[in-house]
This record gives sequence, structure tokens and C-alpha cells, in this order.
Amino acid sequence: MSRKSRIIIVGSGIVGASTAYHLAQLGWKDMLILDQGPLFETGGSTSHAPGGVFQTNPSRMMCKFAQYTVDLLRSLTYEGKPCFHTVGGIEVSKTKERHEDLYRKLGIAHSYGLTDAKIISPDEVLKMSPFIDPEKIHGGYYVPTDGLAAPVRAVRAMAKYVTDLNAGEFIGDTPVTGFKISNNQIRGVETPHGEYEADIVLVSTGIWAPKMGRLANISLPLVPCEHQMAWLEPFDELKEFQAEHKEAQVEHALMRHQDYSLYFRQWNDTYVIGNYRHEPRILESEELKKPEDAEEMPSLVDFRPDDFAGAHQESNWLFPKFAEKKLTRKINGLFSFTLMESSNGRNIN
Ligand SMILES: Cc1cc2nc3c(=O)[nH]c(=O)nc-3n(C[C@H](O)[C@H](O)[C@H](O)COP(=O)(O)OP(=O)(O)OC[C@H]3O[C@@H](n4cnc5c(N)ncnc54)[C@H](O)[C@@H]3O)c2cc1C
Repeated sequence: MSRKSRIIIVGSGIVGASTAYHLAQLGWKDMLILDQGPLFETGGSTSHAPGGVFQTNPSRMMCKFAQYTVDLLRSLTYEGKPCFHTVGGIEVSKTKERHEDLYRKLGIAHSYGLTDAKIISPDEVLKMSPFIDPEKIHGGYYVPTDGLAAPVRAVRAMAKYVTDLNAGEFIGDTPVTGFKISNNQIRGVETPHGEYEADIVLVSTGIWAPKMGRLANISLPLVPCEHQMAWLEPFDELKEFQAEHKEAQVEHALMRHQDYSLYFRQWNDTYVIGNYRHEPRILESEELKKPEDAEEMPSLVDFRPDDFAGAHQESNWLFPKFAEKKLTRKINGLFSFTLMESSNGRNIN
């Protein structure tokens, strides 16, 4: 099969889908979006991300991007369900120094347009995050418009927008295995189902991007990293969020505890703990086989209990109710981080 498109987007995670969505808004047609996995739970990072959006960032550009993201996701629905839950985001302070730092963040946030951000007392934190022990914190930095994206639903909503406009087509189960390049110009891609031609090829393959780059003989400055996440047993107090209301329901604020590089989110009738406080675990994208489905993806690498031990202890200290629950699902998830090359040619993160 050979067909010509204006652009081929390789990968239909949130980055590929969002690119197609924005190009469609600009009037682009003839777009082809290919993914190696089944649409739209492809097995990429988007398929198993918890969707936390904290907008505050010391970089003005990143902060503005995050604000744009929240506005965009709030405007999207899929099959009548929202793509964003505006539950608010709270960063807590365990130490006086962290509390001081929250005031610095507040100044940054106000000057970058997050004008309703504020510092709140431990008791106010408790109202929005009822499992926390307010005695353990000095207070919280609260951004009411932070919240939780529904990542795959957002991808579906964006893809629908593109296809409803007849601006492009999404095809799953089609891995790109090579690039057609002549005279140093990209001409298209190769797949097991045949070749596809295009004026432009955009690679948005997340953790597989370095491998794609090497196929095209270019360096893509991304690297796959492991990131731990673990689910707790259900809580009786959250029973109403279970069953038929599954996936859409969340009420507690998204929480962050930066003294220990931890975050916490309600997940229907339970909670998820996200842990960044462990050895950097970096992989080569060639090592990562194509998962059969979204369920298989998190098991591409093993969960490392030792990496999680300190995070678990700290979580139980801050949220004493967590200590009553066992961990159920535990993963070392994978997503890509940017990579810089230093002047001596070594890659640094
Ligand atoms: C455990 C975990 C927690 C996270 N928490 C958060 C969070 O709270 N907030 C946040 O903002 N981010 C979070 N992230 C990060 C976020 O999920 C990723 O940054 C984002 O999903 C990356 O999107 P992407 O489109 O670049 O990649 P992906 O979603 O991985 O999409 C890449 C796509 O490319 C396809 N592909 C790969 N190779 C090929 C090929 N050869 N041919 C065709 N298709 C191919 C894949 O199948 C995949 O669908 C988290 C990630 C993980 C894993």
C-alpha cells in the first residue's frame, strides 16, 4: 500500500493526538496518524498515566503551557464525560523551610497568571484531602484550577475532533519500522503493512523516540525513565466512587509532598502513591519491546520494592489511614525525559 499524506504523525499518545488536533484547528488536512498499538489504549505512557496537572512552574513558559493545557482539557468531553477533573492541587510543607518556599512559589504563580493560588492552613488542607494528618504539616500551597486529566479520554476526544473534520485518519496496530529518506529528505515511512508517503513525518513515540531517531539517523534528545506508582486497597470512606461511577469520579485534591518527591491522588475508591525519590533508572528504548496492550506495558520492567520502601513509610506517616491498607498494584511505569548532551559528548539529564 502506498498513499501520500501532508504529514504522518508516528504515535498517537497525548503528544501525537494533540499535535493532530492543533493542526486540524489550523486547517490542516491529509494527516495520517500511525500507532504500533491498538487505538487508543496503545500501551504507551499516556495509557497508564495518573493525569496529575500541577500548573506552577518556575519556568514562565512551562507554567503558561500548563495553564493552556488545563483550559484545553476542561473544554473537551468524550461520550459525555469530562477530560479533566478540577479537584485542585495542594503542595504541603513538612518543614518551615518548605513553607517559606511555598510563599516563593505563590509569588511566581501570581506573576505568571495563576492569580487564585493561595497558602492555606493545615485544617483547610484537611477539608480537601481528608486522609491527611494536619498535625504533620505547616500548611499547603493551593491552586484551585489544578487537577486530574483523563489522559486516554482526552486522546479519544482529540482524535474524534480530527476525524469529524475529515482532517486525518488514525490507524492502529501499524508499527513504523523504517523511514524512506532520499537526498537527505524524508519521503515517508515503512510498516509491515506497506509504505506510506508524506511531506513531513513527525515522531511522537515517547519512550521509543530515541530508537525511532536512530532509524532515521538523527539524535532525539529523550530517554526512557522508570517512575514508581502503587495503588492501595479500597477505602470504605470512598465506597461511593466505586462500581458504575468508575473512572470518572474523583473528589479529593491532588496532593504533592516535595520534601520526599511524592504525590498522591484519589483513584475511584482508593489512592495512588507516586514516587520520584529513587535511583534514576534509565533505559535504552531498544530494550523496550512493543507491549501487546496497555495492561502489559507497566510490566515491561519490574517493580523494585526497595526503591519504594522509604516512600511508603513517608506516605503512611503523612496519611495515617494508608498504613491500614496493603499495596495492591505496583508498577515501575515508563516515560521519557529530555536529555542534554554536554560539551564533552556525555549525555546528561
Ligand atoms: C506512571 C506514570 C505516571 C505519570 N504521571 C504523570 C502525571 O501525573 N502528570 C503528567 O503530566 N504526566 C505524567 N506522566 C507522563 C506522561 O504520561 C507522559 O509524559 C505522556 O503520556 C507522554 O505522551 P507521549 O504521547 O509522548 O507518549 P506515549 O503515550 O508513550 O505515546 C507514544 C506512542 O507511540 C507509539 N509508538 C511507539 N513506537 C512506535 C512505532 N515504531 N510505530 C508506531 N507507533 C509507535 C506507542 O504505541 C505510543 O502510543 C506519567 C507517566 C507514567 C508512566
